[in-house]
Amino acid sequence: MHRLARRHRRLLRGRTVRVTSPQDRFAADAALVDGHVFTGAEAYGKHLFHAYDNGLWVHVHLGIYGEFHEREVGFVPRETTRMRIEAGEVVLDLIGPTRCEVVDADGRAAVTSRLGPDPLRKDADPARMWEKLRRRKGPIGPALMDQGVLAGVGNVYRAEALFLHGIHPLTPIPSLSHDDVMALWSTLKRMLEVGVKEGRIMTVDAEEFGLRRRDLDRANGRYVYRQDACLRCGTPVRRWDLSGRWAYACETCQPPP
Ligand SMILES: [Zn+2]
Repeated sequence: MHRLARRHRRLLRGRTVRVTSPQDRFAADAALVDGHVFTGAEAYGKHLFHAYDNGLWVHVHLGIYGEFHEREVGFVPRETTRMRIEAGEVVLDLIGPTRCEVVDADGRAAVTSRLGPDPLRKDADPARMWEKLRRRKGPIGPALMDQGVLAGVGNVYRAEALFLHGIHPLTPIPSLSHDDVMALWSTLKRMLEVGVKEGRIMTVDAEEFGLRRRDLDRANGRYVYRQDACLRCGTPVRRWDLSGRWAYACETCQPPP
């Protein structure tokens, strides 16, 4: 989402845009920002906000199926296009989002106040993550994917960050120290920053295997996520359903609690 926000800022910031809803579902909201100046775009976890000069925002959550497409001028919108944004040569189509709505400042705050800190944001406060975690008793694995604890961390980053710290996903949160949690935060922040820069998720330190970063791919770019065996020690990776999402662990490098 941070990559998308950056792209949308580059394409649209400072421009007067047309905002429409070829699918019609978003038409009434689109009219609230249509013809206004696009003043910025920012991501907060998995949420994207487009800012307009009248103080309103378009809030988008892509969910599993949502996608933005950059089109050529004159491209006939697909029937499923929820939102189209046009400015000169720029045509952006949004298809299949879970949420697409216009919100005011209060509406935006209502979304972001439910979220934990997003490590990619400059205003992120890791102490808030600690405050949320210290009240919990369950395992750390599901908590890291709870957007109310930490915003924007997906399954690959969870698996790989826990691996790097030797923490099993079933480790009870109360057995983790403040330092453990802050170290996890730092690792996630670093991984996410590399992901935004590279546009892909490769969490392995290439030098550990005598490789260059550009040599990394899905087979050798993650230690345990979707691996048959741990890249570091060769132990078969355990995969199981943890609160509805696959968890991955090397139980040699990450001893079970
Ligand atoms: Zn291992």
